[in-house]
Amino acid sequence: MENGLNNKITCIKGVGAKRAETLAKLGIETVGNLLDYYPRAYLDMSKTVPIREITDGEPAAVRATLITDVSVKRTGRGGSLALYSFFVSDGTDSMQITLFNQKYTAEKLMRGGEYIFYGKGEVTGFFRTIKSPIIEPADNASVFPVYPLSAGINQKMLRTSVRAALNEYSGLIKETLPDEIIEKYGLIGRKEAYENIHFPENAEDSKKALHRFVIEELLYFILGLSVLKKKNRKRVSKPLTCPVDMSVFYSSLSFGLTGAQKRVINECIEDMRRPLSMTRLVQGDVGSGKTVVAAALMYYAKMCGAQSAMMAPTEVLAVQHHSNLSSLFEKLGITCALLTGSTGAAERRRIKEGILSGKIDILIGTHALIQKDVAFKDLALVIADEQHRFGVNQRSALTEKGENPHTLIMSATPIPRTMALILYGDLDVSVIDELPAGRQKISSFVVNSAAHEKMYGYLREQIMAGRQAYVVCPLIEENDESETRSVIEFSEQLAEKYLKYINIAYLHGKMPAKEKETVLRKFSEGEISVLVSTTVIEVGINVPNATVMIIENAEKFGLSQLHQLRGRVGRGSKKSWCFLVTDLGGQSRSRLENFCKTTDGFEISRQDLELRGPGDLFGSRQHGLPGLRLASLADMDSLHDAQQIASEITSKKGWYSLPEYSEIASAVVRLFGKTTVV
Ligand code: ADP
Ligand code: MG
Repeated sequence: MENGLNNKITCIKGVGAKRAETLAKLGIETVGNLLDYYPRAYLDMSKTVPIREITDGEPAAVRATLITDVSVKRTGRGGSLALYSFFVSDGTDSMQITLFNQKYTAEKLMRGGEYIFYGKGEVTGFFRTIKSPIIEPADNASVFPVYPLSAGINQKMLRTSVRAALNEYSGLIKETLPDEIIEKYGLIGRKEAYENIHFPENAEDSKKALHRFVIEELLYFILGLSVLKKKNRKRVSKPLTCPVDMSVFYSSLSFGLTGAQKRVINECIEDMRRPLSMTRLVQGDVGSGKTVVAAALMYYAKMCGAQSAMMAPTEVLAVQHHSNLSSLFEKLGITCALLTGSTGAAERRRIKEGILSGKIDILIGTHALIQKDVAFKDLALVIADEQHRFGVNQRSALTEKGENPHTLIMSATPIPRTMALILYGDLDVSVIDELPAGRQKISSFVVNSAAHEKMYGYLREQIMAGRQAYVVCPLIEENDESETRSVIEFSEQLAEKYLKYINIAYLHGKMPAKEKETVLRKFSEGEISVLVSTTVIEVGINVPNATVMIIENAEKFGLSQLHQLRGRVGRGSKKSWCFLVTDLGGQSRSRLENFCKTTDGFEISRQDLELRGPGDLFGSRQHGLPGLRLASLADMDSLHDAQQIASEITSKKGWYSLPEYSEIASAVVRLFGKTTVV
């Protein structure tokens, strides 16, 4: 933040030590922090209700006239507390209003004056009132900000503090964008945007202000990634140039690779043959066969005499990758090891030695693998699976391991190109846009819970035919404890009611890793037939014999998440089914019905994008990217504009040292940290 705006909050008139302390709880310590504390909503005072329509516990704005004087009653020790009260009427009814210790407000009120009173309604018998309302003269009736609050702070306090901050400091708010950009893209100036995001005169004003900030935020983000990309471009890794006969690897597989898999493998090998580091994202729909692509590349690295590491986001997946790949690599005379948080001390020591001496060629593990003190003899390639759990920081932690290895990130979240360019702007992108041959289309249906009996009957038939199934259990509340409880209870109910004599087990996020691992191993070996689970099965699990996926309370999930879940079946040559259980109708249902019509992940995420805007994709849980506070409110138009502006800026050579972009450059540094920026 600009100088002056960095001043402690106590510089603002009316903000004393006590208020500063409360504001600090909201993360507001400086004047700039306060200005950046945007309202979560606006209250339109021109939309008032008659006193008669006030309901208990609901916020209401009433336009009414003072029909009495304000009387004051002193209470407390030595009369230190003042209780102000008066009556107001709006023609439909009258009510008493009391104010507690608000001398300043109370003294300004005049009998016969018309005001707007806003606050929480209270109804006791025939009596209605609004408790300690916000009061504005009626002729001021406008739009008021509603801020997110925490204990000890009220709207009024925030409003007056922000108002004072704007009055005293708005002169110091600097424009960050060059005039020509502001003009060309129809943006409002930064000072005006601050005024209007806090105190808009109408809805249009606040929208424009928000738009300006959204564009600015996306712009910094896109520019930050483009700087990272440029830096990546300068990184050098050991080029892996020796001749490798990949057909040896290919013929060790039990299937032929798809054209798309081969193309992506070759794109990556091309990258690794160059002295510049590979920094590539492989996007492939669920079941498109990303693991074998990773394996091929690790094979290539080994044939060039170098080591590789592969990281999975969860221990369960690391174990799965290891058990699949170690048998493949064993045939090829390649040694691979598994290192996770639950690897025992002796085993860990043995593995670390093997990695340092070069006896172990390939290390598979969770991302603890890059944080722990694991030293490689000659690490040339790092692969991160299911990257959407890896943030920018982790992306760069990857590259700092060993002697600057080539890096590959694999994502199962198919997203449209426009979004990929933004979220992965720092990476080169390859797409596996083809599924292995012989896969049958998954049939998907939306069903009511009334159809449970029939549906689970069907599941039972599949089990009898030797297949397996997943059940994603309903989420009642979104917290770990109730999630755990509901998984256990639900699987007990199923076992009793519909699935007698069938091997059924449950899986949830709170289970110890070892236990999870055992359940999954038994499931993948076919010893368990039905796996009841929370969404922990969402990412990566591969049991080709599973042919039924039942998702309870399907309406709770986003389309892309449903797609990931559905992708756990249909991974072999057998016909598979997916049932989405919901009792909702209307739009929620038709959304699910549409989902059933396609199995193309890219198409589904296009629909998601259209339906819900890009916000979800920016959800920080998804990617851990920095500085995206407002982006979830962005629409496609602002996304396009921000991208256009970014490319105009980056087309100017050395833009970050041009004076017209100096504010932008320092914002990018603030966002991504000094080291990332040139
Ligand atoms: P994802 O892309 O979702 O990570 P996986 O790599 O787990 O997919 O592969 C899914 C399944 O498809 C695995 O059982 C894998 O062995 C198999 N598979 C991968 N490629 C092919 C192929 N070209 N032909 C047939 N089966 C394949
Ligand atoms: Mg996978």
